[in-house]
Amino acid sequence: MSEGEFDLIARIRRRVPARDDVALGIGDDCALLQPPPGLQLAVTMDTLNAGVHFPPETAPADIGWKALAVNLSDLAAMGAQPAWCTLSLTLPQADEAFVDAFCDGFFALAQQHGIALVGGDTTRGPLSVGIAAHGFVEPGMALRRDGARVGDEVWVSGTLGDAAGALRQWQERKGGQSGLLQAKGHSDPLFDSLFARLDRPTPRVALGRALRGLATACIDVSDGLLADFAHICRASGVGADIDTEALPASAALRAAFDGDARRVLQATGGDDYELCFTAPPAQRDALQAVAARLALPLTCIGVIVEGGGVTCDGIGPDARGYQHFA
Ligand code: ADP
Ligand code: MG
Repeated sequence: MSEGEFDLIARIRRRVPARDDVALGIGDDCALLQPPPGLQLAVTMDTLNAGVHFPPETAPADIGWKALAVNLSDLAAMGAQPAWCTLSLTLPQADEAFVDAFCDGFFALAQQHGIALVGGDTTRGPLSVGIAAHGFVEPGMALRRDGARVGDEVWVSGTLGDAAGALRQWQERKGGQSGLLQAKGHSDPLFDSLFARLDRPTPRVALGRALRGLATACIDVSDGLLADFAHICRASGVGADIDTEALPASAALRAAFDGDARRVLQATGGDDYELCFTAPPAQRDALQAVAARLALPLTCIGVIVEGGGVTCDGIGPDARGYQHFA
């Protein structure tokens, strides 16, 4: 992208807030970063491709928010404190308006979590946003997938199925030529609140931090609860009984979908970015105290059992979440 590339990088660079541990940020061949002594670095990367991870009509500011949110969600799921990130931005053309709007969403969320953008790459091609995020966690304190034990309870934060409900409604409404923008123009409050979950997910960073020392295993729900929780079962060598009736639903989801359709969305729909974790029953009171402190509901949805796999009444194995190469 040559000329335009450097203009775009300059536009991005102007927006970056300072952090004391960034010795050298955007502008050189590498960033120079000072990790705090004694902490481990948690490193993650997620890419969002237009038409795969978000509808092509998604507002640029929402793309910026979501691309960072999905990475912060991975740090949250490990109990890590966000610190730094890099951004690989692939654009069809050097579109300054797009970059400015993208930065509005990206930096709004970055500021909430004090994460600094320290470098990246800008290239031409089909719209794609890759972010690598780095955070800190004390050795031995990270929330891994392999720590669930028989007898632990299974918990989930917030509500499930809203993002998938938004996508479902969008697909149903868009019909012939009417797209997302037109559907949103209808300004239906139910539709808007579901869509806010899809477009602007809230990474549960404070919850992940609070779960250090309480949870035995943790994952963020990106591909669907059953699909994601199966990763914990596999890594931990255990099984799980999930109670579909216990899955938490928002008022908007309850209003928009009847029982069976709603439960499938909750159990298999992706993109909610809630945390699903396991903890011994002895931690119940401590977990409820965390829920109260963070004003974030935590719901017990099942129990860890011997064996492998997730059993969940009423949801067949063929409806279990999103896989890219399935
Ligand atoms: P190089 O040729 O060394 O890879 P670039 O010209 O790609 O350098 O980038 C110049 C500087 O701008 C580097 O510090 C790089 O990290 C930063 N940068 C490039 N694109 C982005 C971006 N999308 N977001 C943040 N920093 C970027
Ligand atoms: Mg480069």
